[in-house]
Amino acid sequence: MLNFNFYNPTRIVFGSDTIKQLDQLVPAQARVLILFGGESARKNGTLDEVRQALGNRDVREFGGIEPNPSYETLMRAVEEVRTEKVDFLLAVGGGSVIDGTKFVAAAIDYPNDPWEILQSFGQHIEKAMPFGSVLTLPATGSEMNKASVITRKATQEKLPFMSEKVFPEFSILDPTKTYTLPPRQVANGVVDAYVHIMEQYLTYPADGMVQDRFAEGLLQTLIEIGPRVLAEPHDYELRANLMWAATLALNGLIGAGVPQDWSTHMIGHELTAAFDIDHARTLAVVLPSNLQLRREAKQGKLLQYAERVWGITEGSDAEKIDAAIVRTRQFFESLDIPTRLSDYKVTAGDIDGIISQLQQHGMTALGERQDVNLTLSRQILEASL
Ligand code: NAP
Ligand code: FE
Repeated sequence: MLNFNFYNPTRIVFGSDTIKQLDQLVPAQARVLILFGGESARKNGTLDEVRQALGNRDVREFGGIEPNPSYETLMRAVEEVRTEKVDFLLAVGGGSVIDGTKFVAAAIDYPNDPWEILQSFGQHIEKAMPFGSVLTLPATGSEMNKASVITRKATQEKLPFMSEKVFPEFSILDPTKTYTLPPRQVANGVVDAYVHIMEQYLTYPADGMVQDRFAEGLLQTLIEIGPRVLAEPHDYELRANLMWAATLALNGLIGAGVPQDWSTHMIGHELTAAFDIDHARTLAVVLPSNLQLRREAKQGKLLQYAERVWGITEGSDAEKIDAAIVRTRQFFESLDIPTRLSDYKVTAGDIDGIISQLQQHGMTALGERQDVNLTLSRQILEASL
């Protein structure tokens, strides 16, 4: 096992009817800004419930944070926080709203141009405004981690940042608040969480026996419940298990003490920035060909994945690995998520552009061994067509 330093201060309040606990979680004297996305939280009543729970606190709203939250929109929220003298932020929504709130929290007192937060991957953030979240979409793990991904529309850039200053103080996870999700977003959530686990698990063996078993258990849970959540959208236990699995997939626990490989995410971000493909869908495209092309370097773990997660015990090592990659692709497709670039109208002629974006963003040595250079990224994209 590798050395590690695990820190996660986010309180999770889990279960049905938990939004009312906002009254204890948000400081009584706070001037609160609720940040949310399009209309879903208003239409399904979550926003009303939140306002009610906040009682007679001084509360303002900032709506309109888009999927793949934009720097442009978030800078308007920063202005609002400053002029209205807000001192507590409350994100109500999915990963985009929570990521966006993290950026706002960090940008308010940032001494330089806030875009620099993204350019330096968050390493210069010294303080951030406290915030909590009410999660409405299980997928990203943003509700219990220190990461955020922001898009600058003007330059078509999508970049991540990380900082311990942007852990949410608390997150409320009420599975009943996810009942109104469209099937496409449920499927996206399952795939995003699945790939988060894979990027911390499918590297090279590092004797993280505990981490491996955690990761395998979470993967098997998603394989088991993914199709069922779509078929039985109002089953509380299925929703609850999906929600907790997605949080555990990326709250730092399974990634502590093991190598990590975020190449699928980094290549996927460029696809979203250029073609506006849903985040999870880019991952479903990139992961299978990424595993296929790096199967030698990842051989030990691919075999373990084949045997332990998919129960594949027949055939040669090469056949087991092939079968595991095929099963992974089929799993995504069983959730109605297409896994080829051509399904999203991206062609061979578009690959040069993606490669130059990766280069521009310094994404030239990705993966657990930093060996995913631009040549390998190009091969992965070509194999994804
Ligand atoms: P999202 O972009 O937050 O939301 C997708 C859509 O779902 C929105 O249109 C939203 O509608 C709708 N929605 C959310 N909750 C709903 C509900 N309960 N009922 C009905 N509709 C609902 O999706 P996401 O997958 O959670 O977040 C994706 C973003 O997170 C991407 O930018 C990705 O790069 C990032 N990400 C972050 C991390 C991290 O560690 N921080 C990890 C992976 C990905 P409304 O707008 O109308 O509410
Ligand atoms: Fe993700």
